[in-house]
Amino acid sequence: MRRRDPNPVFGALGTTIFSVMSALAAKHGAVNLGQGFPDEDGPLAIREAAAKALREGPNQYPPMQGLIELRRAVAAHSRRFYDLEFDPENEILITSGATEALTDCMMGLVGPGDEAILIEPAYDSYPPILKAAGARIRSLRLEAPKFRIDEAALASVFTENTKLIMVNSPLNPIGRVFDREELELLATFLTRYDAYAVCDEVYEHLVFDGREHIPLISLPGMRERTVRVGSAGKMFSLTGWKIGWIEGPQHLILPITKAHQFNTFTTSPALQIGVAHGLRHEMGYALDNARELQEKRDLIAKALSRAGFEVLSCEGTYFITTSIRGLTNEPDRAFCERLTREAGITAIPLSVFYGEDGPTDLVRFAFCKKRETIEES
Ligand code: PMP
Ligand code: GLN
Repeated sequence: MRRRDPNPVFGALGTTIFSVMSALAAKHGAVNLGQGFPDEDGPLAIREAAAKALREGPNQYPPMQGLIELRRAVAAHSRRFYDLEFDPENEILITSGATEALTDCMMGLVGPGDEAILIEPAYDSYPPILKAAGARIRSLRLEAPKFRIDEAALASVFTENTKLIMVNSPLNPIGRVFDREELELLATFLTRYDAYAVCDEVYEHLVFDGREHIPLISLPGMRERTVRVGSAGKMFSLTGWKIGWIEGPQHLILPITKAHQFNTFTTSPALQIGVAHGLRHEMGYALDNARELQEKRDLIAKALSRAGFEVLSCEGTYFITTSIRGLTNEPDRAFCERLTREAGITAIPLSVFYGEDGPTDLVRFAFCKKRETIEES
């Protein structure tokens, strides 16, 4: 049989770094501070609500947009925390995790010839999906050590062909939480170029030192051109559940839903019921978790700096970034592989979050782990 070429975008890709490094950690019995998942499961009450639904039903296809009780709970969450109003019937879509949500947004909104802006470092799922959708990527690279969005950088990437920008705040991997000044600047460009924003806000509650997470969609003029993506995995330390959601204006949610209907169509009803319970009754867990993570950030920052890493500031997320140049001249990926083999600690090289010519001196550690796990490493 003649071997035909696969889709050039996916055929040319390697396996995502998170699977690669988790497999390497397992092979060497290393402490896995690579892939971002907590080593303790979130609230029992959420799991019990889902377990009850598994036993008693419903267990057949839920509505394509998601169970209405979960859509209502997502709306109530945005009202409570940000004073934002979304209509559960037309402005909220439930997905199989934020990964699917983001894919639906990119597939639903961009097409051949459109330009899409990525803020680098950028999450690794964005570029292949944008390319597969036919978009041309323009990269806005945030510069170390402050990693701030500024006017000159925005002016260099926005063009008449800009269709959308992907905005991840709090930002994986470098833990920036964009402040109001940066978001207002972004809003000015979105309005000037009549472009959309897809806001990946999966770490919305994981912000530290009294900082505030500001959804871009809450800024004047942004309600009609922005969608906001959330994930129960991050909110409730249930990353394997893969329940996500998208909120935005109906005219954007509609084409995004068309992509969703053929990507997954819908997602597990029992888990949706569990997450609805969480959004209604367990937000205290999410807020306490942020406080605990802040302490763990301080713990790991001290340990890393004692070990000779230069530790960059971390305002939110599960992750802290360090420079390795004080320790080695190796590129980041080789260093992470060696760290796993020789020191029994697994981290993620930051170059995977960049297109061509990204920095090779930065490494990310996940601190969403038990204190003992961090202390052991
Ligand atoms: N966006 C970012 C920035 C992430 O770090 C992750 C991590 N998992 C996701 C999206 C995907 O979330 P989910 O597990 O809900 O698909
Ligand atoms: N978002 C997680 C991280 O950055 C990984 C999720 C995944 O493995 N796809 O570590």
